[in-house]
Amino acid sequence: MMEAGSSTLEQLRTCLVRLDLKTQALIARHDSTGDLYPLHEAMATNSASAFLASVNLWHRRLGHPNSQTVSSLLQHFQIPCRKDSHDPALCEACQRGKHVRLPFHLSKTSTFTPFELLHCDVWTSPVLSVSGYKYYLIVVDDFTHYMWSFPLKAKSDVHGIFVKFQQFVSTHFSTPIRFLQCDNGTEFDNQRNRDLFLARLSAPFAP
Ligand SMILES: [Zn+2]
Repeated sequence: MMEAGSSTLEQLRTCLVRLDLKTQALIARHDSTGDLYPLHEAMATNSASAFLASVNLWHRRLGHPNSQTVSSLLQHFQIPCRKDSHDPALCEACQRGKHVRLPFHLSKTSTFTPFELLHCDVWTSPVLSVSGYKYYLIVVDDFTHYMWSFPLKAKSDVHGIFVKFQQFVSTHFSTPIRFLQCDNGTEFDNQRNRDLFLARLSAPFAP
């Protein structure tokens, strides 16, 4: 006799019988014609949950649908399965297969002095500040990674900030700002800013 969890396994001459440990009720019987005892899921009752496929396994068998689809299919066809929770975030195939974009390439830009290249973007705050600011201009120096942030009430204020920042850099560091890396938002890509810097435009939502 073999003990396994809450049930016992009794090996007879031509079959393997699983009995409930407390009640000794028959849970499953596996007939054999040789040395192997095949397990058939249809023979298992609710108490023999160890034999049932998990929700995660059915998720993979059904081609990785979402949780609602898996549970509705299992209910509709009355498929018995272990009631473990299914978290799609833990399925590696789903995470890889449902990506909508490839990873970004590593940047090959190399700078040798401060203010040679500045990265800038405007962040829109979902909440208006107490002082009435809704936008924030973020400027990062590529060489030093030093960062400045400027609150804005309108995106059109970007040019005025750039003019003052250009003067600040020129006065304190005696160097011009050479390149500006930004997306092609109109707050950056306009003639007034082109007169100040050489702008390098990147695609929207790209680093
Ligand atoms: Zn999946």
